[in-house]
Amino acid sequence: MNPHMMDIPLLISSLIKYADRYHGDTEIVTRTVEGLIHRYNYSEAHSRSKKLANALSNIGIKHGDRVATLAWNTHRHLEIYYGVSGMGAICHTVNPRLFEDQICYIINHAEDVCLFFDLTFLPIVEKLSPQLKSIKKLVLMTDQQNMPTNTINNIICYEELIESESEDFSWPMFPENTDSSLCYTSGTTGNPKGVMYQHRTTILHSYAAVMPDALNLSARDVILPVVPMFHANAWGLPYAAALTGSKLVLPGSGMDGGSLYELFESEKVTLSAGVPTIWMGLVNHLKKEGLKFSTLKRTVIGGSAVPPAMTRTFEENYKVEVIHAWGMTEMSPLGTVSTLRNKHLPLSKKEQLSLKDKQGRAIYGVDMKIVDDDGRELPWDGKAFGELLVRGPWIINSYFKSSDFKTLKVDENKLSWFPTGDVATIDADGFMQITDRSKDVIKTGGEWISSIDLENIAVSHPDITEAAVIAVHHPKWDERPLLVAVKNEGSDIDRDKLLDFFKGKTAKWWVPDDVVFVEELPHTATGKLQKNKLREQYENYKLPTTNK
Ligand code: AMP
Repeated sequence: MNPHMMDIPLLISSLIKYADRYHGDTEIVTRTVEGLIHRYNYSEAHSRSKKLANALSNIGIKHGDRVATLAWNTHRHLEIYYGVSGMGAICHTVNPRLFEDQICYIINHAEDVCLFFDLTFLPIVEKLSPQLKSIKKLVLMTDQQNMPTNTINNIICYEELIESESEDFSWPMFPENTDSSLCYTSGTTGNPKGVMYQHRTTILHSYAAVMPDALNLSARDVILPVVPMFHANAWGLPYAAALTGSKLVLPGSGMDGGSLYELFESEKVTLSAGVPTIWMGLVNHLKKEGLKFSTLKRTVIGGSAVPPAMTRTFEENYKVEVIHAWGMTEMSPLGTVSTLRNKHLPLSKKEQLSLKDKQGRAIYGVDMKIVDDDGRELPWDGKAFGELLVRGPWIINSYFKSSDFKTLKVDENKLSWFPTGDVATIDADGFMQITDRSKDVIKTGGEWISSIDLENIAVSHPDITEAAVIAVHHPKWDERPLLVAVKNEGSDIDRDKLLDFFKGKTAKWWVPDDVVFVEELPHTATGKLQKNKLREQYENYKLPTTNK
């Protein structure tokens, strides 16, 4: 081989090195778990990541070791992202919202050797530590002043760990396909499964994420990722922000509407990202207090379908552009983004907004197709729907240490595709729209009903806060839709009024057979509706249409 171009591996350490050198004075602001606002810049973040890498080497962490975190979005978590991956170990972000036995399972399955955790999670760690067989070091992500006295032995204080270390650390070079970080999917059934990212996949994904038709990030942005750093690496934002040199604002554990709004305003945030449930809380806060955003321009919403009513509230009432994105932990996670093409510019605002209700176009690097039950590709006509398959350089090939991987589907051209488990349409312009998770579609008399479409109609009613539509057994039709809804405080809406609201908005046979009002709906650890729980709860629900 006679390479005419430099052969430089794509490594995560290059991101923080770049941010330090070219955007060293750009701020990183954190609402700390201890409650104060912490402020420093990329240069200091880089120095402290190097101190951490030295400290980790000194406590015996080696290339390829898994280092777990149970932590919020903070500057210390960011240093762990860079320090751990940069030195060649693997940063394993554990979702603290999972059940305790799942946390235990995940840490043991990954064979993590060290656990960094925030003060919030001290009680969980105290309880679980005897069962965490592979963990040799526990590090509490705080300073000496906030170290608890009465707790399990041998907890290391983060600030003490790095305090006396040198900032001199030369990031090692190794092949770009080295494992870098690990995240388990919070599946709704079975044990969580690990998705192992690599340095190369992370860098390529970061390049793709910042593009104008993706998340459109630049050095002029102030980014506040509400999406947690334990959920698919906060959709890659901690990496993408360093790549562009954007200011980062990290909200710690303050995810309520009031705390977020305060940071949006005080730090002049221009772009944020999170799941619809988070935005619901924020919008309710704004409405209640009669507030507006003064700097927020764009917000990325994904992780679950964005209710059309939410897009319109942001765009029309608050003049904030919604960037509707779809992806999966298995896809690093970005797959599609709903941005308009040049030909869509003359369309009316209403038509443009309905395009944004779709999950959007594949970003460069992601290929997708929809197939029928026999694996035959379906047309891109916006009507035919089937299972969505994807492939690309930052998409999973196999789960970490798992034998129960649904094998990739291989097509007639011998290409491997990852079956997403989502059911979708793709229109002639390449806009993909999820109609359901394959296990959530309602199969009625041989036809399929999209639960997402019905939920969107329900939440567009001004009296409904949140809604889930699930399949309930029906003796004649096999399954029929049941709407489980949360109404606004003080609303007197009833079943008939709500079902009336569906008239003219969907096919008659799609209208739910019944409505149950509840105080709240169950969510997974990543904020998605937990429909399997609802299905269990309403398994024997008797629909009023049973005899029809
Ligand atoms: P996770 O790996 O936890 O991020 O979950 C990925 C799954 O979330 C996808 O397979 C979809 O079912 C769902 N999802 C993510 N983004 C969207 C979106 N914009 N609209 C609908 N579903 C979404």
